[in-house]
Amino acid sequence: MTAGEATIEATTTEQRRAALEAIAAEVRVCTRCKLAQARTKAVPGEGHPDTEVLFVGEGPGQTEDAQGRPFVGRAGELLVRMLASIGWRRQEVFITNIVKCRPPGNRDPEPDEIAACAPYLQRQLEVLDPAVVVTLGRFSMAHFRPGERITQIHGTHAAAPSSTGARDALAYALFHPAAALRSTDVERQSYDDIAGLPRVLTEARARRAAARTGAAVPESAATPTIALAGATAAGDLGDDAPTLF
Ligand code: URA
Ligand code: SF4
Repeated sequence: MTAGEATIEATTTEQRRAALEAIAAEVRVCTRCKLAQARTKAVPGEGHPDTEVLFVGEGPGQTEDAQGRPFVGRAGELLVRMLASIGWRRQEVFITNIVKCRPPGNRDPEPDEIAACAPYLQRQLEVLDPAVVVTLGRFSMAHFRPGERITQIHGTHAAAPSSTGARDALAYALFHPAAALRSTDVERQSYDDIAGLPRVLTEARARRAAARTGAAVPESAATPTIALAGATAAGDLGDDAPTLF
């Protein structure tokens, strides 16, 4: 069995947790690109190993770099409020970034850095096998919806290329929360866009079920109130702090 197959067959919660922790351990000591030099802490990502929904931002900011956790600054607070607006919590999704180390001064990540870091995201996608990938901002969108413009496709979904590591996911494009912090128009639009996310998850589940059985599966009328396979109520998650990866 190759290492890739071992990842794909990590199907229990504990196996996924261990596989995600192994990726995170590599990220924390990674020196594959020049972002390693200026970082305080690398930010592998965090969330629930059983989640159906993966959020992918751009790269850590100052607060994230200091804490080693994704989206824990002002943009993260807005993301949590947006999740709350659809009844979701950050500990039931998984949150990571295109580059795992902070670009100095929050500059844009450069193509060589994005390419160097991509295998980590690919492996996280292979382990989690999410039904929906939510892209936050332009750089994440460019990875999952290449050739598009954020102003045109925010609030829409399309199949994520399997070359990303997502086996069968819909990629749903949102503005970056930092952009929403700068513009009340973008903020309003972002709340409208995320309101569509539960329906996209319903559609993604139906697609995946149809792909597995080879038959069309009718879409359930009910929209998911939780982004976690197998959980029936928010209480199933407990109030534990999110698992760090
Ligand atoms: N912005 C991002 O793109 N990612 C983070 O983790 C925090 C802010
Ligand atoms: Fe490694 Fe990614 Fe950090 Fe570059 S950004 S040093 S590739 S973990």
